[in-house]
Amino acid sequence: MKTALITGASRGIGNAIALHLKNEGYRVLGTATTQASASKLEDQGIEGLVLDLNSFNSKEQLWEEVESKKIQISVLVNNAGITRDNIVLRMSEKEWQDIMNVNLNGTFYLSKKVLKMMLKLKWGRIINITSTSASIGNKGQSNYSAAKAGVEAFTKSLAREVGSRNITINSIAPGFIDTDMTQQSDGVNMDDLIKEIPLGRFGKPDEVAHLTSFLCSEEASYITGQIIHINGGLYM
Ligand code: NAP
Repeated sequence: MKTALITGASRGIGNAIALHLKNEGYRVLGTATTQASASKLEDQGIEGLVLDLNSFNSKEQLWEEVESKKIQISVLVNNAGITRDNIVLRMSEKEWQDIMNVNLNGTFYLSKKVLKMMLKLKWGRIINITSTSASIGNKGQSNYSAAKAGVEAFTKSLAREVGSRNITINSIAPGFIDTDMTQQSDGVNMDDLIKEIPLGRFGKPDEVAHLTSFLCSEEASYITGQIIHINGGLYM
């Protein structure tokens, strides 16, 4: 049985991915930022772990736990992500750094850790969840767009480094998906956003989960270093 680690599995896209992979027969480890949310994952058949990517100690603790349980991870989904929107002129150092820590540095930390396991297993899949804003930018999201674009460049470089080892690295770049994150968009008129989307609606977390599980599969073994967009035609 393959083991998958999904960050930010307590809600939204990450939860849909975790459930999808569990239903496909994976052993699934999912992270949340609090013990209460991690425990709730157990009710869904997902092994809950606590992880705050904004804290180096938390990352180290998570990894100690994985190693102490002798878990061999062959699928990593770097999904956890946050926004701290502001225009550049008003953006604080903290708003910039928090985004880099969670959205970019967290991906580097966990990818490096799991790669050692994947090299031994001679098989691996890393899927990084980025965003359309990495390609087109977004007013008020210079920090978020820069971090996601960084993850996409990391994806391509790492894919070149480990391709010969039967390990594939890809990014999925969603447009607007119906989760807590999109509900938080203060002052944004949802009807105006939807007019920009050729398919005329937001995406569902499940739709991103289907694509993720395909990229994890054997059938996707010749796909690496790609940024796969799922956005209802918002960006093409
Ligand atoms: P969400 O509903 O807000 O869920 C965020 C998840 O990340 C939660 O599980 C949360 O855990 C976890 N998380 C928050 N802060 C964290 C931290 N400091 N360390 C570790 N985990 C943390 O978000 P979502 O919409 O599902 O987004 C998932 C991914 O898709 C993100 O990378 C996001 O940037 C990307 N994305 C989303 C959209 C969209 O329209 N929704 C579009 C493009 C890209 P808790 O429950 O414990 O807070």
